[in-house]
Amino acid sequence: MAVLGLSFILFSQTSLNLDFIQPDNPQQTLVFAALSALIFLLFVVLTFILARNLFKLYAERRMGVLGSRFRTRMVVGALILSFLPVIFMFQFAYVLMNRSIDKWFSGPVEALKEDSERLSLLLSDYAATNAQGEAKALASNPELQRAVSARDDAAIRALLERHGAAMEGGFVLLRIGHESLRGYHTPASVAEMATAIEPALQASGPLRRIQWKETEYLAGSESLGADARIYVAMPLPAKLAATMKSIEANHARYYELGRDRRNARRLFMQQLLLITVLVLFAATWLSLFVARLVTQPVAALAFATNEISQGHLDYRVQVRAADELGELVTSFNRMAAELENNRVQIEQSRRDLADTNMALTAANDAIEQRRREIETILQNVPTGVLSLDSAQRVTHTNASFSKMFSREGNTTGSTVTQLFDPIVAHDLERLLRRADRMGTSSREMQIKTENGELHVEVTAASLQHDRQRMGYVIVFEDLSDLLHAQKQVAWREVARRVAHEIKNPLTPIALSAERIRRHLERHEAGVPFGGNSLAVIESCAETISGAVETVRTLVDEFSTLARFPTAQPQPTNINHIVDSALALFHERLDGISVRTDLDPNLPDTLADPEGIKRVIANLVDNAAEAMRDSMVKEIHIRTSFLADADHHVLEISVSDTGHGVTDQLKEKLFLPYFSTKDRGTGLGLAIVSRIVEEHRGSVRVEKNQPMGARFIIELPLTVAPKPKPESTHA
Ligand code: ADP
Repeated sequence: MAVLGLSFILFSQTSLNLDFIQPDNPQQTLVFAALSALIFLLFVVLTFILARNLFKLYAERRMGVLGSRFRTRMVVGALILSFLPVIFMFQFAYVLMNRSIDKWFSGPVEALKEDSERLSLLLSDYAATNAQGEAKALASNPELQRAVSARDDAAIRALLERHGAAMEGGFVLLRIGHESLRGYHTPASVAEMATAIEPALQASGPLRRIQWKETEYLAGSESLGADARIYVAMPLPAKLAATMKSIEANHARYYELGRDRRNARRLFMQQLLLITVLVLFAATWLSLFVARLVTQPVAALAFATNEISQGHLDYRVQVRAADELGELVTSFNRMAAELENNRVQIEQSRRDLADTNMALTAANDAIEQRRREIETILQNVPTGVLSLDSAQRVTHTNASFSKMFSREGNTTGSTVTQLFDPIVAHDLERLLRRADRMGTSSREMQIKTENGELHVEVTAASLQHDRQRMGYVIVFEDLSDLLHAQKQVAWREVARRVAHEIKNPLTPIALSAERIRRHLERHEAGVPFGGNSLAVIESCAETISGAVETVRTLVDEFSTLARFPTAQPQPTNINHIVDSALALFHERLDGISVRTDLDPNLPDTLADPEGIKRVIANLVDNAAEAMRDSMVKEIHIRTSFLADADHHVLEISVSDTGHGVTDQLKEKLFLPYFSTKDRGTGLGLAIVSRIVEEHRGSVRVEKNQPMGARFIIELPLTVAPKPKPESTHA
């Protein structure tokens, strides 16, 4: 505001309006002096501020305040930029001012003043001569002379009034003897004017000035006759007097100013200096302002960076900045906010982790407790337990295992082959492979130990998690005692039943034999064989052979009973059985893809679900075993329904891409105890065949294209429920 006001004053001062800078009265002089003082004061203040700014900048630079170097560079740049034009302007204005001032007070102005004075004098002379001429003309008029000497007032008036046109606004005065003045064409009554006119009339010389109100008159006089005198007064132009006065006053003022030109020069000098300082000040101030626009956000950012590096992540830059700097500040604040957010999250995670750690410790304690419990249980169960890792190396054994197989000392890390003789180890490995496919697998085995032969039921379980094999557990259950006891019970039962069943046909045999013996005794006593006796003997022989046949049937049925449980037929969907058989191998057929092609229109049939499931499981297991060394491993299971006029057959086929079967082997496969594998039981396919037979179906093997074997089972569709065979229990 101060700078604006100052600029206005300067403009007014430098507009060269002389009236303004030339005081007319003491009041204006005072204002003028006050303004000069103000200008000087502002000059001093501005210079001081400028110096202070520069000094402050210097001090800041010395102290290494952030941004001071940039500010210095800006200020120096601005000063260099503005210095040249300012110096040039100063020089130019100074020269211009000096020349102008000298010109203002030069000769022509003086001459002009003298000429105007002379012009005014000439004009007065002209009016005076005119008045004198007119007076003369009137004095020499004989009519007027006559009328004056006759004192004929009316004639004088008539004569002068006739002459009035030549008067040009002037008037005529007439003094006769010592009488009072008579006036003609006077602007007011003679009596009124007398006081103003009298002194002028007394004056001698050519110029008699009469001042009446605004108008100045010049008068001329002439004697008329012996004792009269006539005066003629001619007016000067109306504004002449005022104009002349003004010219004179201006001249006096100009003269004053001319005398005071030093002062004027000093004043202009002051103004010039002020403008110079003002420009420099404005340049410095502007550059400082612009620099501050840059350095302030930068300094704030630097400070904020420091704060954040010290860990005060809640610090934000509050400075308002424009353009790219503004964006920088915004993105810095955003970055700080994200950092803070991240730290909060990390803190939270750390706390969570601590909580989790505590929970884990508690859980670990619980697990340890459980482990100890399980360990104790394992050590105390009477069954031998052997656990293996996924590479089939021993991780743990229990006390019963050590006792069973007399394995004292540390067995951890050894393989199955190292623990058992090769044949047993081979069987166990096979069992483990089977467990891999089916989850668990068990079989009875006879294992030779130091204490004699052990009859054990071996169950292997494959431990898997998320399709990843963790290891195995093998449980050895000593069946020696159990088998012994079971065998005794079974034999006792069999003996009881056999006795019971055989007793029935024995009675008719004994009775028939008795009757034959009686007839023979009678014959020996002399009674001859009659037709009756022969008929009786024949009937007895028939009875005996009938009874013997009954006994044979009984024996057959007992042997069947001894081998298989009785089938439990019920309405069954073969597709479901295939699914449940495959479920046994769920995620255990490593590297083998299983493809099913199940006929959705397959009708239900009467069958033993457990038996059929066992059939399919055996076939799938055999197929997997046959494909162990194959490149392509695929099992394809297909069900279909074949129907013609008198045949309704359900067909199940299991194909594999294994090593297949030769023609010679085909016939023998289904025989019990036939196996091509070392220590194979040869019972799998025999059981399959037996179960299929029970369902009145058939099983055969074919070559699979392009490789492997295909087992095809055909089951007749059985709809009506069959009564259970009860003869075996009779
Ligand atoms: P085990 O498998 O216990 O020897 P099985 O009755 O299951 O007894 O099988 C008898 C023989 O039939 C096997 O030893 C094997 O040679 C042969 N065999 C069974 N299934 C297949 C098959 N899918 N591919 C090739 N040969 C097979």
